Amino acid sequence: MSSHTASQRYLSTRGGSYDLSFEQVVLKGLASDGGLFIPEEIPTLPKDWASNWQHLSFEHLAYEIFSLYISPSEIPAADLKGIIHRSYSTFRVKDITPTVTLDEKNNIHLLELFHGPTFAFKDVALQFLGNLFEYFLVRRNENKTGRSREHLTVVGATSGDTGSAAIYGLRGKKDVSVFIMHPQGKVSAVQEAQMTTVMDANVHNLAVDGTFDDCQDFVKALFADPEINKTHRLAAVNSINWARILAQITYYFYSYFQLIRQPSFLPASTVRFVVPTGNFGDILAGYFAKRMGLPAEKLVVATNENDILHRFWQSGKYEKQPVHGKEAEGGIPEDGVKADEGGVKETLSPAMDILVSSNFERLLWFLAYEVYSTNSDAVSQRRAQAGDHVRSWLNDLKTEGGFRVDQQLLKAAQADFESYRVSDEETLETIKDTFASASSKGYVLDPHSAIGVHAAYRSAKVSTPPSTHHIALATAHPAKFSNAVERALSDENDHFQANILPDEFKGLEDKPRRVSHVRKADGWEGVRRVVIAEVEAELQAAEKAANSPSHSLLRLPNITRSSFFDFTNIKRRDVLPLPPTRTRQLETDTTTLLCPEATIQRTTLAIHAGGKLCTRHDPYGQALSKVDVLVLVYWMLFRTLNFINMYIRRQYLHEEGTLNHALTLVNDAGCFFQNTRQGRSLDVWATSYHTYISTVLSVPPPARSLWMCEAPRCVTITTVFSVPVTRSFFLGVKLLGASQPPPYSRTPTQL
Ligand SMILES: *Cc1c(COP(=O)(O)O)cnc(C)c1O
Repeated sequence: MSSHTASQRYLSTRGGSYDLSFEQVVLKGLASDGGLFIPEEIPTLPKDWASNWQHLSFEHLAYEIFSLYISPSEIPAADLKGIIHRSYSTFRVKDITPTVTLDEKNNIHLLELFHGPTFAFKDVALQFLGNLFEYFLVRRNENKTGRSREHLTVVGATSGDTGSAAIYGLRGKKDVSVFIMHPQGKVSAVQEAQMTTVMDANVHNLAVDGTFDDCQDFVKALFADPEINKTHRLAAVNSINWARILAQITYYFYSYFQLIRQPSFLPASTVRFVVPTGNFGDILAGYFAKRMGLPAEKLVVATNENDILHRFWQSGKYEKQPVHGKEAEGGIPEDGVKADEGGVKETLSPAMDILVSSNFERLLWFLAYEVYSTNSDAVSQRRAQAGDHVRSWLNDLKTEGGFRVDQQLLKAAQADFESYRVSDEETLETIKDTFASASSKGYVLDPHSAIGVHAAYRSAKVSTPPSTHHIALATAHPAKFSNAVERALSDENDHFQANILPDEFKGLEDKPRRVSHVRKADGWEGVRRVVIAEVEAELQAAEKAANSPSHSLLRLPNITRSSFFDFTNIKRRDVLPLPPTRTRQLETDTTTLLCPEATIQRTTLAIHAGGKLCTRHDPYGQALSKVDVLVLVYWMLFRTLNFINMYIRRQYLHEEGTLNHALTLVNDAGCFFQNTRQGRSLDVWATSYHTYISTVLSVPPPARSLWMCEAPRCVTITTVFSVPVTRSFFLGVKLLGASQPPPYSRTPTQL
């Protein structure tokens, strides 16, 4: 692959395969020799990276970093930028992963990684992975129709965070079905609701009456089953997928640049990243960043009482030590602690309850490569030797429950890393102390993030020089593990409900759910039956929808005036001015569901300016009157619906006579449909300048089957178009409002 640099080609940690492309590695997940994929070399940063990258937006920075690992011959620059943009436009803040200062005196900062759709850090990687899968498939399926299209069946098991992030990453993606097994009744209520209330036809939740380990065993059995592998292309989304590690590298750089801009960061200051660690995925991304050249003094591994990694850094021994019985009991069942009973200790931070850390194998390979071979050996020989070491260690882990490395290798590991173990008690104390302390101003940590913060304070006590800054990674929103947080802040429950609980979580548990139940007694063959049947049903429904366009799909929603403009749902927030660019390209992603029976119940408009949601303000900071807003909403909606109508009729249906082409546009936008208690919500939004209009449609029951087009999926038509927006756009809208009767008095037929 001459078009690929060494860091754009991949090999297996166990020596079985070399010279693979990024696409092969992402679609395969795990190497056939059981190893994990790593780039053949860790790239070094371009010469002027520090000055050239420091002011880049998160998306641009991600592009620069990903380009080092992905050859443009595989994903052309413009496509990669598009994938990145789609992946991060689902985040709620402009910075994607902002860094905030928690304690000025001790230079402790928090890198907030929970502003994505499921409120945990795994979104950063899984939003990207979902779009990558789709990109590769759409490309492979160009000019193919029906059954000749390649279809990806993603199968995974979850005890909570991974499953919801994977579902939100893959929902509505073309040519991809996703099956996530969870132990029934053993994941936290919020996580279960997040997963099962997603109604996209390609999302399949399987509740198993067993533990996480049972689910995991089913997944492994499916991947090993020759029969299903003959008919279905299986793919994995767990943290061993290389694309997940890659996506996580960005925020180490982004956070570093945010930190060094602060006045408290002096020329002699240094930085340590502290990472709450389970499977070693998140912190491994930090290791790549450091090896690429990011000046991080140390990476600090913070574990809970499942401390295999901490023990390794203390002793050089990597050993499973299953804990059973009384000893293992801790944590809160309602937060999902009983999901995993494979001998791990149950703690307040269930997303880190692991016996062994699968990504640690990747670090071992790099350490072995560095330590055991000399520079005079040929590179290929050094690689093969590193693979041999890894294979034999992992073999010992399997057969003897552990292995020990020698002093030389341990020293190399200690050069980059340090480790701390944090108990449940210390976790609760940290949540409490942080909330109460004057410097952190009532900040509420989730139990995982608290482990990082606790370790950061311990590291701050011993690190030299005293001007060391600590960036602790905040991996989840406190509302996701609310029982532990409420236990720590037992006097503050009203505060939690009123100020901490995100709107997205309110009423989540009352929404309709879609989940299939799988009996453990039916074994993995039972799961296989369900997977095969549901993929088949999905494909048939898609074929049917593609071949028989129903004319009702051509009609616009019947917009009635009833409570169209009800602003009760709007919250006033801070306003931040947009950058002074006056002209921007507006890229509008619109999605509509064309159902004649729909009525619009509520419309809200929010202008998302500079990272904060504000309402009734135009992006230039001027207050808009209520009439301005009405006009703006109506104008956007009117234009959008008209446009879609015209577009589909002229461009697609008349020319081609099928819905197929219109449907291929679906993949160009994210998934903007949400089920609400009232009905479906139609979101019209313009991502790049962040105007967001959300309209809740209600559909009377008899229309629902039509709406669903007989398949358990609604038909969505998506278009992407661009309109240049200037200040005159807003003025124009205002003038329109002043000189004409309010357009919302028109009847729907005039649309
Ligand atoms: C997954 C997860 C972790 C652990 O991350 P690893 O990459 O497995 O080390 C920590 N905190 C939360 C909230 C998580 O969901």
